[in-house]
Amino acid sequence: MNAFDQNEVWFVTGAQLLYGGDAVIAVDAHSNKIVAGLNESGKLPVKVVYKGTVNSAKEVTATFKAANNDDKCVGVITWMHTFSPAKMWIHGLQELRKPLLHLHTQFNKEIPWDTMDMDFMNLNQSAHGDREFGHIMARMRKNRKVVVGHWQDPKTLEKIAIWMRVAAAWADSQNMLVVRFGDQMNNVAVTDGDKVAAEEILGYHVDYYPIGDLVAVQDKVSDADIATLVAEYEKEYVIAPNCKEGGKDRQQVIEAAREEIALRRFLDEKGAKAFTTNFDDLKGLDQLPGLACQRMMADGYGFGAEGDWKSAALYRTMWYMSQGMPKGCSFLEDYTLNFNGDKTAILEAHMLEVCPLISEEKPKLEVHPLGIGGKNDPARLVFTSKQGEGVAATIIDLGNRFRMIVNEVDCVKSKKLPKLPVASNLWIPRPTFEVGAAAWILAGGTHHTSFSYDLTTEYLEDFAEMAGIEILVIDKDTNIRDFKKDIRINEIYYLLNKSLG
Ligand code: MN
Repeated sequence: MNAFDQNEVWFVTGAQLLYGGDAVIAVDAHSNKIVAGLNESGKLPVKVVYKGTVNSAKEVTATFKAANNDDKCVGVITWMHTFSPAKMWIHGLQELRKPLLHLHTQFNKEIPWDTMDMDFMNLNQSAHGDREFGHIMARMRKNRKVVVGHWQDPKTLEKIAIWMRVAAAWADSQNMLVVRFGDQMNNVAVTDGDKVAAEEILGYHVDYYPIGDLVAVQDKVSDADIATLVAEYEKEYVIAPNCKEGGKDRQQVIEAAREEIALRRFLDEKGAKAFTTNFDDLKGLDQLPGLACQRMMADGYGFGAEGDWKSAALYRTMWYMSQGMPKGCSFLEDYTLNFNGDKTAILEAHMLEVCPLISEEKPKLEVHPLGIGGKNDPARLVFTSKQGEGVAATIIDLGNRFRMIVNEVDCVKSKKLPKLPVASNLWIPRPTFEVGAAAWILAGGTHHTSFSYDLTTEYLEDFAEMAGIEILVIDKDTNIRDFKKDIRINEIYYLLNKSLG
């Protein structure tokens, strides 16, 4: 099933009645053809629904109010076929709470040089109609994505497709319950933040549950259900000798399966989309749930370690955006550095919790001691990760606002780590390790990130635009002098921004 089957994007054409009935009919016919073309392109993940041409303030407002109230509608595409005097859009735009994409296109691709007359000119006025519409959006400080290009051009479709995936993920985040077992790891600053502001601005509802509630669910898990899940492990992974039936750590695998079943039941019963654990809060559990967190991330549950609810939520959002894409995503942590000139890289890993979607091989299921947490030896999947480009992202709380930070990275081949039995990824931040890491540190970025091979910075820029939060991008063009300037300018912008609304 396509994960976006339940979603729609509405297409609303702007015009006016000045040009007579024939023009109205033509505008409608062209809009229908464009929408059919978009849907038949095979390039768009969400169905486009034509909601008609709007010719008056009353029609604009009614259409946008309907979009707000339709749960299937994750966003609205607007396009001005003729000139559409933009004062008629003001009240509707004041109402609209769904993401907006302004498509600057034209029905015909080329000018019909030999036949073009004044009737044609009156009908096909996107070139200036979309500027009038852009003006009122700028005047009202409305966040939106502007996509420019002919509607049949693959590059135009690609930009619309990106925005659609983000809009669907944005809708998903608007009723996201994040469950936390335990609090933050004591004294850690960067993973903490204002959960009230997060609900208001990002949509996340964050609830605490005592670990004892999970233990109660765990204690009801049947041996038959555990046996079924362990059989699944045996099919999907290479099983280490000590984890096989009769092996000395077999019981640890069984206990890991018990925890996984309990976690899934608990979250599903609450309708939660993301969760956090804390190695200091495991009373009644056999081991730190590593394997469970890894496998559940692969199924789209957001996860953050040590109480990191912002990373848990962002992982869920990035997984949601990238559904059906080939290379995968994961929660990761900057673990240790390998200085090596312009190949200097960061080894990304965690105590246990790295998503197997990013593995370059069939993961190995292993059990080893873990120095932290004071529990039994935990089961975990061990692997190295794919090579290629990707994005690492985080959201931090600066006290007066949320800031998203994105670093484009190049994942490179890792050496084997025979004495470090955890999953890992090895990457070189762009533009270089020195500049990338310095910029990340200046921006106040976390040691935890949500990472994806499939998404690009554009997805996260669209997300920040929908959320109305700050975004700082670290890419091949970043230099520290300009980056510091951006940070300082943003400081002023976001202080003033409160008074712009
Ligand atoms: Mn951590």
